[in-house]
Amino acid sequence: MRKINVFDTTLRDGEQSAGVNLNFEEKLEIAKQLERLGVDVMEAGFPASSQGDFRSVQAIANTVKGSSVTGLARSVTKDIDVAWEALKKSAEPRIHVFLATSPIHMTYKLRMTPDEVVRTAVESVKYAKAKFPQVQWSAEDASRSELPFLATIIEAVIDAGATVINLPDTVGYTTPQEIGNMFRYLTENVPNIDRAILSTHNHDDLGMAVANSLAAIQNGAGQVECTMNGIGERAGNASLEEIAVALNIRKDHYQADTGLTLKEIKRSSSLVSKLTGMIVPSNKAVVGANAFAHESGIHQDGVLKNKETYEIFTPELVGVSSNRMVLGKHSGRHAFKEKIVELGFNGTEDQIQTIFKAFKDLADKKKDVTEDDLFALMTEATVGEAVAHYELEALQVNYGTNNIPTATITLNVPSEGTIQEAATGSGSVEAIYNTLERMIDGPVILEDYRIQSINGGRDALAEVFVKIQYDGVESTGRGTAHDVLEASAKAYIHAINRTINRRAYNAERMKQLNA
Ligand SMILES: [Zn+2]
Repeated sequence: MRKINVFDTTLRDGEQSAGVNLNFEEKLEIAKQLERLGVDVMEAGFPASSQGDFRSVQAIANTVKGSSVTGLARSVTKDIDVAWEALKKSAEPRIHVFLATSPIHMTYKLRMTPDEVVRTAVESVKYAKAKFPQVQWSAEDASRSELPFLATIIEAVIDAGATVINLPDTVGYTTPQEIGNMFRYLTENVPNIDRAILSTHNHDDLGMAVANSLAAIQNGAGQVECTMNGIGERAGNASLEEIAVALNIRKDHYQADTGLTLKEIKRSSSLVSKLTGMIVPSNKAVVGANAFAHESGIHQDGVLKNKETYEIFTPELVGVSSNRMVLGKHSGRHAFKEKIVELGFNGTEDQIQTIFKAFKDLADKKKDVTEDDLFALMTEATVGEAVAHYELEALQVNYGTNNIPTATITLNVPSEGTIQEAATGSGSVEAIYNTLERMIDGPVILEDYRIQSINGGRDALAEVFVKIQYDGVESTGRGTAHDVLEASAKAYIHAINRTINRRAYNAERMKQLNA
């Protein structure tokens, strides 16, 4: 059985998804979960692209010890220096430098001749290798590059010290057969290829990212790059969970495995979905809500007689439990703590107290508190904002089919005590948002608003996700509550707090840079 290394890029390529912007605490939380999942390498960001990226890559490199942490860099010394500063304390410092190799990218984007591209690639790999024990080099747009040229440049960068060679299908254009040919050709035509691991990185523009990744693995790739839930630039990347489960279930065919802790897949997927606001479609393979739902009578009958009639793998394999009622109104603090630790909680005693209180409030209103509910409460408590500038103290909404909806809100503002305001709107949510906009000195543009329930049932928890523009900055926010209007208010306030914190952080950085 061949071991395939999993290179997760949820925090770099995934974070490039339109509308996604994760903050420091959120990235760290996802990184810890990817470590539990057992990824070999995680790409934590692009350190030279912004101060925020630098800070989170550095924190992840200093925290995560079970996976190798890497950062992206262009083929320029400044990027490599900044990446070294961010990554030098990681367990196994690793850099990912890239340069485009396709005719269209070399001519129009880089404006370099093929010889200049080879020289630049070699120089950057040598420069990186003087600092980093592990250097991954990527031929951007490899799938549209000429094979003999790829063979030449790969041989040169391996001689310069690259230990991993990545061949991305940057624009999601290739097919399984073509990518298989590319990997086979390079395995056979690069004389020093045994000194490096070949890696595949695929985009889903034509819906073939996972199929292309598997074809590359069959033809010599020893590393696969992917993201949780397949999020990423444009139509996204190859999804980690689909590749990992396909290799596991079809071992007979692929003769390869990832070694991931598959039962952490569901939790990883939920966390990434919650924190990015990118909802997993119910028909999504492996992690969608319907992935194990048998609807037709004939199928249900078959499954009852023998599961294997219509189920090729069990929900338990990927950590989807039956989501039974786990705790009730009378559960004590001890049982509660045991349960959340089992669900992966690793926060402080103060946070346990906060979640326990939220759990007790919920158990008063909701008959069965499920694992998904607890997970939502845990995420809310542990991945909150470092500083809450506004906190929801009270919310009252007056709604009737024949009158104008009015919201009255009290906010706790730690610097100035409580403030209160009321406003109307054409609907309840609009009344709430009009009121909040006055309180925080808007204007605020609401760009997106989405709501979903956590599991079914009329007493389910509501989860609201918003995207706003405030103070010239785009921010996202989420809120969970038993009531949809309260969840809506919380999501909006969360987005405002995130904007203010980011602004404060950037101002602090500017001061440090100018000093
Ligand atoms: Zn990509």
